[in-house]
Amino acid sequence: MGLVAVTWMNCLGRCLPQKTRFLHTLKGRQSDQILMSPSLASLDLPDTWTPNSSCQSIPDIRKSFNEQTPTVIDGKLMATEIRSKIADQVRQMKKCLGKVPGLAVILVGQRRDSLTYVHNKIIACEEVGMKSVVTELPTDCADADVQNAVMRFNKDPSIHGILVQLPLPQHLDEEKILDALCLEKDVDGFHPLNMGNLSLRGREPLFIPCTPKACIELLIRSGVKIMGKKAVVIGRSNIVGLPTSLLLQRHHATVTIVHAFTENPEQITSEAEIVVSAAGVPSLVRGNWIKSGATVIDVGTSPVEDPSSEDGYRLVGDVCFEEVKKVASVITPVPGGVGPMTVTMLLVNTLDSAKRMLNFT
Ligand code: NAD
Repeated sequence: MGLVAVTWMNCLGRCLPQKTRFLHTLKGRQSDQILMSPSLASLDLPDTWTPNSSCQSIPDIRKSFNEQTPTVIDGKLMATEIRSKIADQVRQMKKCLGKVPGLAVILVGQRRDSLTYVHNKIIACEEVGMKSVVTELPTDCADADVQNAVMRFNKDPSIHGILVQLPLPQHLDEEKILDALCLEKDVDGFHPLNMGNLSLRGREPLFIPCTPKACIELLIRSGVKIMGKKAVVIGRSNIVGLPTSLLLQRHHATVTIVHAFTENPEQITSEAEIVVSAAGVPSLVRGNWIKSGATVIDVGTSPVEDPSSEDGYRLVGDVCFEEVKKVASVITPVPGGVGPMTVTMLLVNTLDSAKRMLNFT
């Protein structure tokens, strides 16, 4: 097979159209593994469910809410504050060691959403003075091609963080590819050892996955108390739902997970003081799912058709914002909530990795 590998150094931002810049989300989607009994598996149930009603279809639902004005978390602003501190540290590292943190991204194929997410990461690296390298491989490449790219970056001393943009084309063996990634450079935190350490008391993972870390950062910076609170995480994927629930437990919340097979999810969420939704189902979380005064973090980002937008689509969250903002005391918007913070956590992980490898404090 004729393999074309293109490597950009800090250039993707200039290669991609300007109109993609409004997207602030990082997305590496991957369906979660469900241990289904043979009888359940034979039903071939999808691990997702899309409500057929939009936010607007229950006109009088808001009347029952005790309306209040919530704090809408400005994820962009918080991200900017953190990024400016990262930039200071990068400058400091460059001054003392003559080196900067380096992030390598491996992108397989031409998915529009993946291109956008990679673009956002590269721009973010540029802004804080980090080095970034993107290796692009064709959709029909082989496992070995991706593994070779991973191994090349594993050995490269100027690279401190490597990420493989997910999802990969179906024919590729994601597990095998991620296993090739050097643990010390796994800035996405998806390595089984990182995940295992996250779940064990008294053990510390080298990296915490970026989106879950972003959710906790948003909660803490908004002054939301986590310890002792009832938290519900909607979704149990390896990259968002599961690690978010583990992280909330580490912060001493009492955590319940709701997933596609959960019965009466609204009953469970309406008892929670913190709800993190990561289902990828637009308008899933309605006003009556939320307890008055609760905090709602919306991780979901789904493209929905919008002829009035330049791209013909816009990104929406899982939460019916207009309804929920009347009940919640703190809420994140989409876009502008979790997305920018996720990219920022990637920068934090890359900086931490470089500091560890270069013995820089
Ligand atoms: P996924 O498809 O791998 O997992 C979705 C999870 O939601 C599954 O565990 C499933 O059981 C659950 N689910 C599906 N339908 C449900 C329903 N009706 N009720 C309850 N649970 C349901 O997706 P993912 O990779 O975890 O991503 C979730 C969402 O978060 C997506 O919209 C994705 O684009 C977004 N995302 C955003 C960021 C960000 O930075 N903002 C980062 C990663 C992912």
